[in-house]
Amino acid sequence: MTEQLFELPESYLAIIEEAKKVAQQVAPYAHHADEADHFDPNVRQILAESGLCSLTVPKKFGGRFEEVDSLAVTVVREQLAYESAHVDSMFCMQGIGSYALAQAGSPALQEAWLPAVGRLESIAALGLTEPDVGSDLRAITTTIEVEGDLLRINGHKSFITNAGDADFYTMLGKETVGGEIAYSLVLIPASTPGLSVSHPHQIIAPHVLGDVIMKDVMVPSSHRIGEPGKGFNLVLATLSTFRVSVAGAAIGIAQAALDEATKHAAGREQFGVPLARLGGIPAQLANSWAEIEMARALTYRAAAASARDARANLYLSSLAKAGATEMSGRVVDRAVQIMGRFGIVRGSKIERLYREARPLRIYEGATEVIYDSLAKQLVKRVTG
Ligand SMILES: Cc1cc2nc3c(=O)[nH]c(=O)nc-3n(C[C@H](O)[C@H](O)[C@H](O)COP(=O)(O)OP(=O)(O)OC[C@H]3O[C@@H](n4cnc5c(N)ncnc54)[C@H](O)[C@@H]3O)c2cc1C
Repeated sequence: MTEQLFELPESYLAIIEEAKKVAQQVAPYAHHADEADHFDPNVRQILAESGLCSLTVPKKFGGRFEEVDSLAVTVVREQLAYESAHVDSMFCMQGIGSYALAQAGSPALQEAWLPAVGRLESIAALGLTEPDVGSDLRAITTTIEVEGDLLRINGHKSFITNAGDADFYTMLGKETVGGEIAYSLVLIPASTPGLSVSHPHQIIAPHVLGDVIMKDVMVPSSHRIGEPGKGFNLVLATLSTFRVSVAGAAIGIAQAALDEATKHAAGREQFGVPLARLGGIPAQLANSWAEIEMARALTYRAAAASARDARANLYLSSLAKAGATEMSGRVVDRAVQIMGRFGIVRGSKIERLYREARPLRIYEGATEVIYDSLAKQLVKRVTG
């Protein structure tokens, strides 16, 4: 089980205990829920009743911290992902989908949605990716046009977490501002005419995910989030705050895989000795343990720094995100190997973890994209 080898303030230890309790309550539903492509009602109820989602909104909308706190979100994700990727996603998307609104929405729009987000009564989503646009967001084709007091939105968003179950979408589109192409965010309630959802992709680790198509969707101009043309700043602010929490989820998954493999290696004998004493297996177990602890130490440090100033410490969050998600891939793969044929049995926990670890290296900044930006910063730091 996860140990606390890094000193955290008491208030965060209490949050970890709360999250552990939720994870344990969710555990009996995890196998079914993690294979579902819609919200599992049992998991949703447990998470809603726990009050944990209040951590995804600022205090004035029912949250616990003045602003969403990266360290709190990160330690919660670690505990939730240990048992269920579904509950982890449900939790973090409330913050990722609503952060821009909390930062720059009109007071009326904030009041209409954010308290309900914190209670998990309204489900949030963030729409950036399009069928032909992933890492290079400046290539998006979704358009926003001003028509009097209304905004007309046309576009196609792809691989959107919570599509179909969300109550509102924070959508990134482009528009002309002062004769220049600019990028802006708009809040679109799911019930708005012209918005439809399809589910063209089934992914290896099921996820509440779909495409959102907007055909002449009209919303009041008060549904803008932030000034026209300031969309990227808000997207960056969202990523800065939440990127490190992906590392938390990766550590939870890696720890769960190591625990599964350790139990198996301690309990199964070959050649008259437990696997845990055989050949290269002790080294694989110990190496995985070391890698998890190193990732956890960096992640907590990065999350604490992000809680103080997310933008200034984005490089630390990026180091932790790329480092921990890549580590998680290695640890889960080793765990499968340690378990031999039992590691690849469909429906087993380890097989599920093997699939669930994979997307973390792709979303919220694919590893290579993060490495590219980190390497540029490194060269600048070293060469001045
Ligand atoms: C489970 C899941 C949930 C998601 N949820 C959401 C969501 O809620 N909202 C949303 O908007 N999107 C979501 N996405 C989409 C996600 O944000 C994109 O997958 C991600 O941005 C990467 O884009 P891409 O998959 O198109 O890969 P691409 O951008 O096509 O990249 C493909 C490969 O090329 C590499 N590459 C790309 N650019 C560079 C570069 N400059 N330098 C070096 N290497 C590069 C990448 O690292 C990657 O290995 C989700 C994805 C997944 C898997």
